[in-house]
Amino acid sequence: MNPILIAGAGPVGCTLALFLAQNDIPVILLEAQDSLPQDLRASTFHPPTLDMLAKLDLVEDMLSVGLKVDNYQYRDRRTNEIAKFDLSVLEGATGHPYRLQCEQYKMTQIVVDKLEAFPHAQVRMGTRMKGYSEVDGGIEALVQNADGEELVKCDYLVGCDGANSVVRQASGVEFEGMTYPERFLVASTTFDFGDYFEGLSMVNYVSDPDEWCVILKTAGLWRVLVPTPIEEDDARFLTDEFIQDRLHRLAKNDVDFDVHHRTLYRVHQRVAKTYQARDRVLIAGDAAHVNNPLGGMGMNGGVQDAINLAEKLVQIINKGGDRQDLLALYSRQRRGICTQFIQEHTMKNKALMEATDEATQVKRQAKFMKACSDPVLARAFVMETSMINCVRDSYLIT
Ligand SMILES: Cc1cc2nc3c(=O)[nH]c(=O)nc-3n(C[C@H](O)[C@H](O)[C@H](O)COP(=O)(O)OP(=O)(O)OC[C@H]3O[C@@H](n4cnc5c(N)ncnc54)[C@H](O)[C@@H]3O)c2cc1C
Repeated sequence: MNPILIAGAGPVGCTLALFLAQNDIPVILLEAQDSLPQDLRASTFHPPTLDMLAKLDLVEDMLSVGLKVDNYQYRDRRTNEIAKFDLSVLEGATGHPYRLQCEQYKMTQIVVDKLEAFPHAQVRMGTRMKGYSEVDGGIEALVQNADGEELVKCDYLVGCDGANSVVRQASGVEFEGMTYPERFLVASTTFDFGDYFEGLSMVNYVSDPDEWCVILKTAGLWRVLVPTPIEEDDARFLTDEFIQDRLHRLAKNDVDFDVHHRTLYRVHQRVAKTYQARDRVLIAGDAAHVNNPLGGMGMNGGVQDAINLAEKLVQIINKGGDRQDLLALYSRQRRGICTQFIQEHTMKNKALMEATDEATQVKRQAKFMKACSDPVLARAFVMETSMINCVRDSYLIT
């Protein structure tokens, strides 16, 4: 057989490639950049995603470079009320009743290292997917590296090439939705917010009428995510002056913060019209759906796509499963859960965090306080926010 060609070595393409390689299916994983991109996007892996990654033998390695988080909180900066949710309530529903804070680039590096053990898996760095045509029951993809262009024959092509997916665009699949007017600024620092704020967790959603933020701990650093004002110039948001000002407003510090990384992100809510772009062309992860990062569901949803798709490709290729039925089912299940749950949930999270009227703020915190203090409500809340319910529900879609 010809290999499965996967465009994009982000967390989604890497997961798909490793699953297929472990099932003896030849794969080529293309990455446009010369080395794996390192950026300040995803760091939170939810319990059901860890259950899936454990089957690929990834979790121990990820734990060795990440942080195990057994609770997270919603904190109101006006009143200092803290609603803390303990993930141990998930015992029995998952083998991993915790969140793992591990930067996505650490996960992709672990996968690429593991792929070396499989002679039928190739990773081609510095190789960009440019387009494709459907030929003789397969696909001919046009790829480009430093030496020039090449046509690669494959049985299936999967676009895991991010929000600006060439595979999605070359297939003419609409990417419906909207782009937020503000940007999200992420800065990391060695300043210990855990020492500064009493009772801070490693994952904190902090509401405030003027300056809501998310404060996260990763191995050795704290990350702060803030929205930027809408009407101003992007260039200003990455200056020392702007970042120091935002951090000083969050925590009083006699000296300037030691800022390690800074990145400005444009954020969208979009879902592709179908995840089966053509008979043998699929899309997954950000290529298929994007959402705001509140709740950490973008990469998690994408990794869950990759697992769902890999299971179906293994059924088709190794067990003679019906290609048409299984690939259409992949699209229905993963697109369905994205529109029904992930999009709705993340939009609601953002609307709640940024609400400026006092009545909504009071109601929001009261809801969180009530949920965390009642064991039944707390478990229901954590089952939902940790994505256990949505993974289960996706497999119920027929
Ligand atoms: C500030 C921020 C914080 C976030 N935090 C979280 C979080 O904690 N948890 C969570 O679940 N999600 C989070 N997300 C979302 C998450 O980062 C994305 O959903 C995730 O990166 C998607 O993974 P992916 O593999 O689909 O795409 P990407 O990570 O974008 O990877 C795509 C890869 O494809 C490569 N590529 C692109 N075009 C081509 C081409 N033509 N040919 C070959 N290769 C190509 C790119 O170089 C890249 O390596 C966050 C997002 C933001 C902006």
